[in-house]
Amino acid sequence: MVSPRINPRVAAEASVQARNPLHAKPRNQCILISVRGKCVQHIKGIIFDLDGTLVSSSLDFNAIRRDIGCPPQQDILDYLAALPANEREQAQALVFQHELDDAHSSDWMPNAQSFIHQCALAKIPMAIVTRNSAQPTHIKVTRNGIPISHVVTREQSKPKPDPSALLAIAQQFDLPSDAIMMVGDYKYDLQAGRNAGMATCLINYQQLPDYVHLADYRFEHFGLLSDAMFNASTARF
Ligand SMILES: [Mg+2]
Repeated sequence: MVSPRINPRVAAEASVQARNPLHAKPRNQCILISVRGKCVQHIKGIIFDLDGTLVSSSLDFNAIRRDIGCPPQQDILDYLAALPANEREQAQALVFQHELDDAHSSDWMPNAQSFIHQCALAKIPMAIVTRNSAQPTHIKVTRNGIPISHVVTREQSKPKPDPSALLAIAQQFDLPSDAIMMVGDYKYDLQAGRNAGMATCLINYQQLPDYVHLADYRFEHFGLLSDAMFNASTARF
């Protein structure tokens, strides 16, 4: 009886698989599973935060709070909403000036532009929901040539973590909430996604924040998210 010939490359791969279970998974099988048990590749639509997510932001929230008298732990938009009308107008003008200054220096976050390009090629509908106001948002979108026309600013909807804007977008996408992913760098993004029944993705972090438990997926930058969505067989961990 003749022994079957063994391809040396196959034998080497089998040896690697025996030593490392991650390599034992078949190629192209999705191996990036969220805490809710769903593969990131089930996502059919994406909603992005803007500042610190798609583009850089140098907004100094401590300086803004100091300028308008907002206590350190209070949400700035909640503080503005609770001010008497005449004081609110002045405070809003100060916040707006900070936002305008920031808008003129914003640039793409690492790998964000190519990720959006890949999503567009894959015909994944995209939107932006930001707590920023309309004019600075428009400047950032135009300055960086962000190819997303569906943009919701704080003038148009209740601010995150309220899910209103996200739910309206789900209707416009004609997708169920759980087929949409909210991608952002801060807890309000993740809370809004959770409140809308969407998948949530934390992006652009250097150290895991204390709100990481709100994220179904987490990637240190868009290059890793891109691998997970479009090239799972080479995804890194
Ligand atoms: Mg942000």
